[in-house]
Amino acid sequence: MSACMISASTFLQETGAAGVWVTAAGIVFSAVLIGALILYRRRYRAALQERRNTAELIENLHDGIYRSSLDGHQLAANRALVRLNGYENEAEMLASVNDIATEWYVDPDRRAEFRDILNRDGRVEDFVSEVYRHKTRERIWITESARIVCDPKIGKPLYYEGSVREITETIKRRQLEEQIQKLTSQLPGGLFQFRRNPNGSYSVQYLSHGFGRVIGLPEERSILTTAQFVDLIVREDRPAYFRSLTSSRRSLSPWDHEFRVRTPGGESRWLRIVAKPEQDEGAITWHGYLMDISARKKQAMEIEELAYFDPLTRLPNRRMLRDRTAAAIACARKRGRVGALLFIDLDNFKNLNDSQGHHVGDQYLMQVAERLRECTGEYGIVSRMGGDEFVIMLEDLADELPEGSRHALAVADRALSALRDTFVLGPVHHRGSASIGVVTFDGSESGAEELVRRADIAMYEAKSGGRNGISLFDPASLELESQRFRLLNDLRAAISGDQLALHFQPQVDREGHVCGAEALLRWRHPELGNIPPGIFIPLAEHCGLIHEIGDFVLARAIAALARWQRNPATSHIRLAVNISVQSFANATFVPDLTRLVQEYGVDASCLTLEFAENVMARDQERTAARMAELKKLGIRFSLDDFGTGYSSLIHLKKLPFDELKIDGGFVADIETRESDRALVRTILAMATTLGLTAVAEHVEDDKQRIFLHLFGCEIFQGLLYSAAMPEEEFLAFTSARNVPAEAETAYIRRPA
Ligand code: C2E
Ligand code: MG
Ligand code: MG
Repeated sequence: MSACMISASTFLQETGAAGVWVTAAGIVFSAVLIGALILYRRRYRAALQERRNTAELIENLHDGIYRSSLDGHQLAANRALVRLNGYENEAEMLASVNDIATEWYVDPDRRAEFRDILNRDGRVEDFVSEVYRHKTRERIWITESARIVCDPKIGKPLYYEGSVREITETIKRRQLEEQIQKLTSQLPGGLFQFRRNPNGSYSVQYLSHGFGRVIGLPEERSILTTAQFVDLIVREDRPAYFRSLTSSRRSLSPWDHEFRVRTPGGESRWLRIVAKPEQDEGAITWHGYLMDISARKKQAMEIEELAYFDPLTRLPNRRMLRDRTAAAIACARKRGRVGALLFIDLDNFKNLNDSQGHHVGDQYLMQVAERLRECTGEYGIVSRMGGDEFVIMLEDLADELPEGSRHALAVADRALSALRDTFVLGPVHHRGSASIGVVTFDGSESGAEELVRRADIAMYEAKSGGRNGISLFDPASLELESQRFRLLNDLRAAISGDQLALHFQPQVDREGHVCGAEALLRWRHPELGNIPPGIFIPLAEHCGLIHEIGDFVLARAIAALARWQRNPATSHIRLAVNISVQSFANATFVPDLTRLVQEYGVDASCLTLEFAENVMARDQERTAARMAELKKLGIRFSLDDFGTGYSSLIHLKKLPFDELKIDGGFVADIETRESDRALVRTILAMATTLGLTAVAEHVEDDKQRIFLHLFGCEIFQGLLYSAAMPEEEFLAFTSARNVPAEAETAYIRRPA
């Protein structure tokens, strides 16, 4: 620069002033020109560089960029778009693409839609279409935005330019989500994923729609945090919930837990959560399913209620009592304390139930349950064994058995007097009573069943010692009970063997002729000899064996009657058969008997069915209906042991009886006791009024016969004539006794 200034001053000196100025101006001009040129060149270079940069930027953009002619021909495309279309370079692509509308869009109409928007608005944004990857024809999804580029001077559209981005993955994911959504919406429960982060916090990853439904979230509140979820869990259930979750986390074992929630709407629900944990770099994700199990839980609770509680009285049932007694025995053993069982049986419950209806019977049982609960207090549990049997279990009564027995008897006494108070059962006022068996335990007992059995035996003792009593279990009665048990087994064998036989006790008319017989069952035990029916019939009735016995008796009796009817000398003889009410209550009784009558072709008017007075206590309508049906066959009915039970004249009138048998007890004292005499006379008068035939039982001597004869009795039965005897003997007795009138003087009375 300094060299240049020196040479310029030298030049000025040499050329003079004007020349100097011209020269200087030329220099300045040149310098400015050069400067301008340099500047222009720099700017040009910078612009070129910028254009190159832009082109490079466009070329390297992730999104596809294009320019196309207005008629749909691709003019330029960046690398991303070239790749999107499956080509290697722009030239190859531009050479291959002819018409975008038909070659690119899966639905060619999309192109028209696209162009319409573009023409209308001058631009299109986020236009999603399914297109072909041009080269491979693979279907993909894209979103494109574009604008029309116009001539800046005249505004005429020149071409389109725009960007394209492939969103196949997003669309597929969305489609998948939609599918999952559709599928999960069909599930009754909810799917979820939640994570325990390495820092111990929890976060929800995924919840299906059903999840919200299960926990009763309103539709609009679909998002839920883990904390919000825990808030819904019933407070008492939270510790167990967290324990089970922690256990699953620690052992990475499947999580399966049931708990209760209270929904935002206030409803209580039982839920079950089932999930599989998966560990992932310090975090654990549970993938699982949440379901509403309220219905199942309710059912399970109902089943448990049914399994352990009596539905009528809501008292614990036999099963629960057994469990609780077993626990009480174990506890008594451990603590050295004494407890007791009180077995309570209501007297005459069946009478009430049958005469007043089941509704009244149920009310009575419920009130009994309440009274027993009251007198037991918190010291024991009251349970219902079924029917009219209740058991009270008392624990922790005393240290020693005698004192425990005293306490238990005191409770039994309280219970008994509570049950004696009048029960108001709607319009019915009922005075009941009960029999109670008491047994104490100190833990040395073999088990609950045995203890209940002992209490039952004691109750049986109380009952047989007259109703309305209490009996303390006596080990000696175990022997009696086991005898009964042995006898029952033997009776089973006797029915199938030939140890049972039907004997016949004659019934005699006022003239002394045999007009009928009562069939009486005999059991010849191979070791014990003859066992009276008074022993084995009640046992059979108690244990359900009476049906088989009844069938046996009826079949033998009708067979005998058929034989007698074939002989003119005995064809008129009536046969009375004793029928237990249990047999008669059996639905097959009427059809079975009808079949027998038809099979043997007997004249059924010679068949009399004898019922004890307890037949009155049964469902009278059904009894009357069955009797009416049998009456159509001609069968007669007799009321046995009249005067001993609960027969009332009203009931007697309601049922179609033909005959009544005055109980032997009245006959026995007819000579000696005025009251019995009066009673027998009244019964006989009443029988006449009601049009019933009267039969006197247990006629043992002539004086009795004379009294009865005098009072109008028509038929006589008893040892005065004969005990019950085998059929052959009975027939011989009959033919000897029923001699024609002219031979009657030759008759010799058989000794009783
Ligand atoms: P029941 O029907 O009142 O029968 C009359 C009972 O009195 C019979 O007793 C009979 O042997 C007895 N007896 C007859 N004459 C006299 C007498 O002069 N004095 C006394 N003291 N007793 C007399 P048995 O045979 O022991 O029967 C007892 C009860 O057993 C019967 O009483 C009846 O209720 C029942 N029984 C007998 N056989 C059957 C049967 O086949 N089926 C059913 N269900 N019960 C039967
Ligand atoms: Mg009888
Ligand atoms: Mg009798």
